[in-house]
Amino acid sequence: MSQGEISDKGGQQSAAGLFHRMPRGALLGAALLIVPIVVFSLIAWQFSGRAPQGTVTHWLILTIGVLAISSFTGHSGITSFGHAAFMGLAAHITALLTIPVAQKAVFLPDLPIWLAQTEMGFLPAVLIAAVITTGFGFLVGIPICRLNGASAAIATLGLLIIANSLIVGARDFTRGSQALIGVPKVVDIPVALAFVVVVILAVRIFRDLTPGLELRASREDEPAARSIGVNVQARRLLAWTFSAFIAALAGALMAHYLGVFSPKEFYFNLTFALLVMLIVGGMNSVSGAVAGAAIVTALIEILRRFEDAPTIASIQLPQLFGLTDIGLAMAVLAILFWRREGLFGYLEADAYWRRWFGGKGPDLTDVAPLPAVPRRAGGTLEAQSVTKRFGGLRAVDAAALSLRSGEILGLIGPNGSGKTTLLSTIAGALTPTSGRIVMDGQDVSDWPAHKIARAGLGRTFQNIRLFRNLSVLENVMVAATGAQGGLAEREQRARALLAELDIAETASRPAGTLAYGQQRRVEIARALALEPRYLLLDEPAAGMNQSESDELLAILGRLRQNRGIGLLVVDHDLRLIMRLCDRVVVLNKGQVIADGAPADIQNDPLVIEAYLGTKRASALHGPS
Ligand code: ADP
Ligand code: MG
Repeated sequence: MSQGEISDKGGQQSAAGLFHRMPRGALLGAALLIVPIVVFSLIAWQFSGRAPQGTVTHWLILTIGVLAISSFTGHSGITSFGHAAFMGLAAHITALLTIPVAQKAVFLPDLPIWLAQTEMGFLPAVLIAAVITTGFGFLVGIPICRLNGASAAIATLGLLIIANSLIVGARDFTRGSQALIGVPKVVDIPVALAFVVVVILAVRIFRDLTPGLELRASREDEPAARSIGVNVQARRLLAWTFSAFIAALAGALMAHYLGVFSPKEFYFNLTFALLVMLIVGGMNSVSGAVAGAAIVTALIEILRRFEDAPTIASIQLPQLFGLTDIGLAMAVLAILFWRREGLFGYLEADAYWRRWFGGKGPDLTDVAPLPAVPRRAGGTLEAQSVTKRFGGLRAVDAAALSLRSGEILGLIGPNGSGKTTLLSTIAGALTPTSGRIVMDGQDVSDWPAHKIARAGLGRTFQNIRLFRNLSVLENVMVAATGAQGGLAEREQRARALLAELDIAETASRPAGTLAYGQQRRVEIARALALEPRYLLLDEPAAGMNQSESDELLAILGRLRQNRGIGLLVVDHDLRLIMRLCDRVVVLNKGQVIADGAPADIQNDPLVIEAYLGTKRASALHGPS
């Protein structure tokens, strides 16, 4: 698929507009999952008995449950134990709305009168249950999404336990731990299938849209995601709320499939089963969630046969209690051993499809030149008497520097002199202990990193921080999300940047597989995709050989020339700094000890002493 294919559809306004925003791989990816499920389910519906039909329906509903967890966990990297709580909540709500009035009078005599007299149809009840559950999900998500990693996962576990206690405790509504009876059993294969199709489409498209992409980036590297303008907590909360909605659908369907259920249907066993499915198929893709649900369901069915005292060759075997659980645990262990990321790893079905059948990738010669980036009016980025303490250590001590747009400023100093700390403080990754960061006249000292990034400040990291399991193109596209235009324009922009940095041919490779020098360039391309006015580079030439760092020099020179960006370059390669920079600031023990033209810096006795000791002062002058 080339760019032209999309832009040619400009004729039909609305349809084309929608398609324009639609991630191209997502539709193929969804279709590759949906078609086999539909075919298999319809065959089962037509040709099998009641019991197998029930199994298929159950599997379809579990698929939605796994997709719910996947659309949060797969994107954020935070394992959720809490989604069964949403399923249980929605199941109970839809049950209360649909159980016939006569039955409520018998089994739920203490219901408030308005609820006791309510009896509605399946679809409106599911909708109401989903809306209420989603609202609840949003509220509990606010604290949970502020946490990270393991603490967030434990909070979701807490949610599961608390929600279960509440459901059991609300006896008047739920009969405590006794079963609710009389929920209309209206969910069969066609109904469940319709929901599965819609949910797969929605989840798969969500993955490729801006929030999904940004969140996957944050899963790979949170500080890096913030540095290109991703508001990680807000994105997490969005995905969490979305996933609560999907889980609610699964729970409501489950209620109308079972007809009779108690709160324990939506507790640890279900959570365990859903997570096993996710681990087996792969946490990090929609395809993995779908495949995991299918594989594990099949495995359970097979193991159950054996558990129920099977007869093989007319010999009655003894009952094997616990075989199913043991089998599931073994499946997880096997997957963790052979393929840690699950069957699908980080790729979707459509990526495998293109790899096997797609033949040629996108045409790289097709990259249209970017519209000229307007040169920005001159501005200044200033650090005013900035101090940053770590405990008792003043890593940066009342340091001041200013960077004008269009200028290349070098920042040098011995190891541990505070260069990286100063750079991170300017970029908002660290908050200054005292002093101010001022960008074009605005005090941004207490802005979060993502807000400063969006305001026009890009950075790279001393230890390369790429989104290793995203493609090079995606790495750059994440940062371009603030730009105008649809997905196609953003992709075009990203490709043009890759071409500008001479790494166009790496676009579809996972960023983590690139050589060191190329990774540095991806990082620079990613920062540039923000269209920053100021760009802070932390030791961009570290680990590069002579010719690589010469090329880097040429690239940085071009950036200043073409874009008028203000560049702050931290480096150990003095040859590079002296050749590249208009001005050099020298840090020592957190303090600025010199600020001036490279030639003056080279001859400053203070600098020579601090930077090299007096032993090899000649090294400052480098080979000429
Ligand atoms: P440079 O980049 O010039 O080598 P850094 O800014 O990395 O120097 O480090 C400056 C000082 O601050 C060092 O003594 C380092 O150990 C300390 N330091 C840096 N980051 C942290 C941190 N996150 N916590 C505690 N100390 C830190
Ligand atoms: Mg450093």
